Amino acid sequence: MKIILHLSLLLICIGLKAQIAEGDKIGDLHIQPVYHGSLALEYSGKSIYIDPYGGAALYESLPSPDIILITDIHGDHYDTATLEAIDPENSLIIAPKAVYDKMNDTMKEQTVVLNNGDSKDAEGITIKAIPMYNLPEADDAPHVKGRGNGYVLTLGKTTVYISGDTEGIPEMRNLKGIDIAFVCMNLPYTMDVDQAADAVLEFKPGIVYPYHYRGRPDMSDVATFKKIVNDNDPNIEVRLKDWYPKS
Ligand code: ZN
Repeated sequence: MKIILHLSLLLICIGLKAQIAEGDKIGDLHIQPVYHGSLALEYSGKSIYIDPYGGAALYESLPSPDIILITDIHGDHYDTATLEAIDPENSLIIAPKAVYDKMNDTMKEQTVVLNNGDSKDAEGITIKAIPMYNLPEADDAPHVKGRGNGYVLTLGKTTVYISGDTEGIPEMRNLKGIDIAFVCMNLPYTMDVDQAADAVLEFKPGIVYPYHYRGRPDMSDVATFKKIVNDNDPNIEVRLKDWYPKS
């Protein structure tokens, strides 16, 4: 009986760990897809979470975060339940002003506000906030220019772009020297795979991960995204990961 119990506990543990996709090691950077628009990076002993979302269990196998980046106010990016359950007491949180304004006082104390165009050096990493918004610009768009942040991180020799929720805006198209990019693609909130591919083909990251691709009603066809990109530029490596682990 005891053995059966132990065995089931073990299977439960393995099951929990198997929830998230396998990570990638690229140079001295470890990349961990987590869920939807959330990922974790490890670099030089530092752990960075982006937009923790979907419950703290998804983050249990990861080192606790030194830095947490939040891109926008929506619940799939600023998920207070997940954020509080992760217990980021010792983390530096970086967020745009619109997110900061929604925080309780405790969380505000550990947060540095970065708005579009601002940069900060923290834990040996340079973090630059860049715009993310829908086109054409409109006051009633899901993502209004100036509210949320995409981020460009410089980690040693590696430059990483995290798009946040955006369309193929000029600020994305004009990026230079991006080694690794995480690019959203979901309708009706951000952009379709054709628009995402078109923007990626312009700024030419070394590696691109489609992420944040669950739309309404359908998941975006990331295989088609990969095909469009590689038919036009075989030098851009498209990495497809499962960003929607079954719980
Ligand atoms: Zn979103």
